[in-house]
Amino acid sequence: MSDARLRAALLSWYRASKRDLPWRKNADPYRVWISEIMLQQTTVAAVTPKYEAFLRRFPTLAALAAADEDEVLAAWAGLGYYSRARNLLRAARAVVAEHGGRFPSEEDAVLALPGIGRYTAGAIRSIAFGEPAPLVDGNVIRVFSRLFGLKGRAKDPAFAKTLWPLAERLVDRASPGDWNQALMELGATVCTPESPSCGACPVAKSCVAFAKDLQEKLPLPEERRAPVPVKWTCLWIERDGEVLLWKRSEKERLLKNLWGLPEAGRVDARPGRTLATVSHSITHHALTVTLKEASLAGKAPAGAKWVPREDVGNYLVSSLWLKLLRASA
Ligand code: SF4
Repeated sequence: MSDARLRAALLSWYRASKRDLPWRKNADPYRVWISEIMLQQTTVAAVTPKYEAFLRRFPTLAALAAADEDEVLAAWAGLGYYSRARNLLRAARAVVAEHGGRFPSEEDAVLALPGIGRYTAGAIRSIAFGEPAPLVDGNVIRVFSRLFGLKGRAKDPAFAKTLWPLAERLVDRASPGDWNQALMELGATVCTPESPSCGACPVAKSCVAFAKDLQEKLPLPEERRAPVPVKWTCLWIERDGEVLLWKRSEKERLLKNLWGLPEAGRVDARPGRTLATVSHSITHHALTVTLKEASLAGKAPAGAKWVPREDVGNYLVSSLWLKLLRASA
């Protein structure tokens, strides 16, 4: 199948079968950008309600740029990888300061914004501005690997790098946004990691993996990374209806710069009974976190703050805390 026929087949399939997702209703650059950042490392099902709530809270780029970091982190609660939310705020402020509040379309200007790499720049420029910008993400890597019979590991950055020229060659000049979304949609709904639905695939006729029965072998399997065990004991210190929270510093290995419950050993306190123990994964870390009731023995540590009990949820944005508080209720 020629490139032109491949494009035609995939584009017509996409236009007929694409999922009705909230960020596809409006290709405004601000909305495309928010959805693309949310969709990095987070599933469509988890992003959908968060995306709509985030846009209700910050309907425009100007509203986001004017927000406090804690407000943005609270709106991001549950999505994880909180540096994404911090970069969103920094980038919104940069667009206001350097581009008069209008999201830029030029490649260099988009790439200069915090938190925007080559993939996100390609998505925003093609979907929101109709620029013939290619993109390569996990779905595209899998589709290309199978369609063209390319051997590589999906998470190997060197393999991904080799696919950019192919993405550049294939991008549809007339409908780059639809083309890029069609490739990703194929990977998300048909050419899935396990058991791809080749019988329903619009490009099966030109697929090398399908012809050679290699669908389950490409991309090559990942090398397994053993999870790193981490144990924390955290303290619930309450006094006169207020709870002691602690802002984790930049130097912490996990949940940097985020509010949390103080860890034992970081605060002068007398631990009491155990309230709950939960397991939780953050990247490749396997955490076991125990929550104990405690009373403060000395002064509250630097970076700590008393917060009314009913407001604690506005600060503890990581789903780890939600899990721990639920388990201890
Ligand atoms: S034929 Fe199967 S393996 Fe090939 S691109 Fe389509 S879904 Fe993926």
